[in-house]
Amino acid sequence: MRRLLLKNLVRGPLTEAAPMADEGAIAELASRVQQAARRRLGRTLAIREVDAGSCNGCELEIHALGNVLYDLERFGLRFVASPRHADVLLVTGPVTRNMRAALERTYQATPGPKWVVAAGACARDGGVFAGSPACVDGGVSAVVPVDLHIPGCPPPPLELLRGLLALLESVSADGA
Ligand code: SF4
Repeated sequence: MRRLLLKNLVRGPLTEAAPMADEGAIAELASRVQQAARRRLGRTLAIREVDAGSCNGCELEIHALGNVLYDLERFGLRFVASPRHADVLLVTGPVTRNMRAALERTYQATPGPKWVVAAGACARDGGVFAGSPACVDGGVSAVVPVDLHIPGCPPPPLELLRGLLALLESVSADGA
């Protein structure tokens, strides 16, 4: 035991260094999302995250948006605790049968105008869980209308930001 403790003290950490966030790209994308939200909504964007049965990989990337590297609140992007305060439902996971009613009720509780973003491969079509008897067939769009899908397994933070920007720019353009 003492030898093991000594060995762990002298050798370096086994974990990999965290990837460096591209500060310039984050700042540019986040401020463009903020401007698009102000044009479309007249204020900042409020996002309600809904885990509809994901493996939590997507949540780790979504949580990263709020950590010290990304710190998106400085650009006015907020994650809110209630769908009643949300503009966007950011949904992850294949939608398990147990989560179906919760997702439907969350959608109904969100005031319009509202948009649904399906984040990750599972949210699009079930991903690695497709065909499971525990999940609905067809992903999020089989349960609620989806406005945008962000691909990836999981989608990294910059892709999530790009997706939110694409959503806001598309709704600004056609006025929907
Ligand atoms: S898309 Fe990948 S990371 Fe996201 S919930 Fe599915 S398996 Fe997990």
